[in-house]
Amino acid sequence: MITDEQLLRYSRHILLDELDVAGQEAILAGRVLVIGAGGLAHPALSYLVSSGVQHITIVDDDRIELSNLSRQFWFTDSDVGQHKVSVLSKRLHQLNPQAQIQPVVARSNALLLQQLIESVDLVLDCTDNYFSRSLINRVCLQLHKPLISASALVFSGQLAVYDFRHGQGPCYQCLFSGEINDQAASCAKQGVFSPLLGMMGSAQASEALQLLAGIHPNGCWLHHFDARHFQWQKLRLSANPSCSVCSKKALSTDNSG
Ligand SMILES: [Zn+2]
Repeated sequence: MITDEQLLRYSRHILLDELDVAGQEAILAGRVLVIGAGGLAHPALSYLVSSGVQHITIVDDDRIELSNLSRQFWFTDSDVGQHKVSVLSKRLHQLNPQAQIQPVVARSNALLLQQLIESVDLVLDCTDNYFSRSLINRVCLQLHKPLISASALVFSGQLAVYDFRHGQGPCYQCLFSGEINDQAASCAKQGVFSPLLGMMGSAQASEALQLLAGIHPNGCWLHHFDARHFQWQKLRLSANPSCSVCSKKALSTDNSG
């Protein structure tokens, strides 16, 4: 039941016909896991927390470095050296004291992800490497949880929503089936345009809030954004019948094991 204070705080959402009180109540009840506490997570979490998602877990084992500050705007110079999730959860709590934010200082592994993903409604992948993305994809599919995955490199961003609620693909592995050279494809090596992370992280929050509110259009889409020319492209995703994760053969092997 929404309180008077919440009616006022979230009034601009409640005014939207698509959301109304019921949609805002669903957002308030939402449970979200955000994996990664870097440049995508900052804008994504800002909108999730300020929009009222009350149960959020953030997992990351990185410490804050000076080179993070140009994109990870919740951190200040005096935070350098501290764990990202610890500082981030405190700052976000100030943004919305009603939010219960659980920081988990850990590197993602299969067992931890299974425990964390089991108890949430959806997952935001805000990591920056192929290994983590593949693992998160696999566990979200196993547990039938929607996955909102984004990436940003140089001036180019990608966003995909994998709706695993029916236990089937398409999935991240359908698109990126080969090993990607993380060393070559990293922001640390090639650079990234700071506002691009703001756009892609905000887009993740937009998709997440609509999923929680039950108003997300059906279907799995891949969005590509070119920040140099301000152009979005949208592709409907379909499952790869020989995908090593979501094909019928892969799923039956997984279930029998
Ligand atoms: Zn797949």
